[in-house]
Amino acid sequence: MQPLKEIAMKTGEKTQQLQEAIEQLLVLVGEDPTREGLIKTPERVAKMFHFLTKGYTEDINEVLNGALFSIKYDEMVIVKDIDFFSLCEHHLVPFFGKCHIAYLPDKKVIGLSKLPRIVEVFSRRLQVQERLTQQIAEIIQEKIKPQGVAVVMEAQHLCMMMRGVEKQNATAITSAMLGGFRTRRETREEFLELIKRGSIQRDPLFWHHDGNE
Ligand SMILES: [Zn+2]
Repeated sequence: MQPLKEIAMKTGEKTQQLQEAIEQLLVLVGEDPTREGLIKTPERVAKMFHFLTKGYTEDINEVLNGALFSIKYDEMVIVKDIDFFSLCEHHLVPFFGKCHIAYLPDKKVIGLSKLPRIVEVFSRRLQVQERLTQQIAEIIQEKIKPQGVAVVMEAQHLCMMMRGVEKQNATAITSAMLGGFRTRRETREEFLELIKRGSIQRDPLFWHHDGNE
């Protein structure tokens, strides 16, 4: 592990360089970075980029630490409507929407609140929606080795809405199906049916588990 001071210095240097780059960007788009409204913009944008890309420095094992439980439960576990915000790696503008996750446990479950945290770790990076969806499914597969994992993401891309085709209401949907969700059509359909429904909380199939958090 690196000493904290060293990490802090590196982050400081990076922030400084990032600020300079933003200042240059302001000049290049025809702005005056010394005018009142823009004076603190490079600093603010640098901080914002650190936040929007913090997933690069987060350790997934630390995130999941202590939240894997052995249990006799082998029905589908679903967490749906997880909000996420990411940055499109082609344009550096946001894409955002909802993520739905399901898995079929095999002796192990994961604290439910950890699923949104996993989404957070992978979405706070430069991404394409397809890879983001796949990475979330794969890490769940790797960490709890369930009988299957399904991830569906629905998102709006500002790069499509503000520029290019300028389609305001287009939603991109991606999915990753592993194990039982890939091989068994009825499992996959059950999941897709459940995420379509608005009142999933009242469904007896919905299983709530607080874990230790
Ligand atoms: Zn884009």
